[in-house]
Amino acid sequence: MLSPLQLVRRTPLSNCGACGFPTCLAFAAAVLKVGKKLTDCPFINLKGLDMTEVRQSTDNLQLEKKDLQFIAFLKSELQPVDFSRLAPVLGAIYQDTPPAMAFPYLGQKTIISKDEITINGQPPGDHRDQILLYNYLRSGGGRAPDGEWLGLESLPNTISKVKTLSTYGEEPLARCLSAEGAGNFQRTVHDMGGRMITESGADLAARIPVLPMVPEYILFWAAEPEENFPARVKILFDHHILDFLDIESLVFSAERLTDYLLARLANKPDKDSVERQP
Ligand code: SF4
Repeated sequence: MLSPLQLVRRTPLSNCGACGFPTCLAFAAAVLKVGKKLTDCPFINLKGLDMTEVRQSTDNLQLEKKDLQFIAFLKSELQPVDFSRLAPVLGAIYQDTPPAMAFPYLGQKTIISKDEITINGQPPGDHRDQILLYNYLRSGGGRAPDGEWLGLESLPNTISKVKTLSTYGEEPLARCLSAEGAGNFQRTVHDMGGRMITESGADLAARIPVLPMVPEYILFWAAEPEENFPARVKILFDHHILDFLDIESLVFSAERLTDYLLARLANKPDKDSVERQP
């Protein structure tokens, strides 16, 4: 992504103020951070500038703004909700003064009050965490998971999301599990409150509670070079999952599960090889 220091080299660095900013650097930062037009500087040199890179920088900004607006909306929807009634339905513990709910999210202690979310005592570092956590509360709960599993493609209106899940969830997880091995994976699953499944037919399988009512089922098949089959992961969801998360948040949950597993597996010192089951 383009930085203000890279962009400012395109200006004459004269700090003339014609763009409405006191310095050229302030102008460059405003282009990238608040969407000011490049042409507001009459002297800027646009020759050879990669406009796609500029657009990507400002698109990211727009996405960030949209996320923040959406998070504010979700938060506002929770204000009238009775947390004491909702907590047991979501597998959470109700805390009084101020009203809040506590539950594990990816094995981390998560507390949501009407004003804020903390994960292991810290504010969430990723917008997807806030969106899916607020949506979990907003769902109002429903039928508890009962162990009937579905792929994302079996849920309604998911055609455009299946590729996203594959790109940001299943494929990176398959690469990571091929490299990291079974022992590390088992320990990480256990640390997250999940369990390994032995009778799955896959080379590795685990059920992990992303949220108390949102278990996810990971199946891994090691590569078979002689058959030309690459390593593969499939992430499955309980058939009642849409009672607790909408499709977008569901994909976020699988992406964040993947992010978490990759980070944890990368930090584990020992490795055991994954063998294809006979
Ligand atoms: S108009 Fe251009 S040269 Fe003048 S301060 Fe703004 S960015 Fe710098």
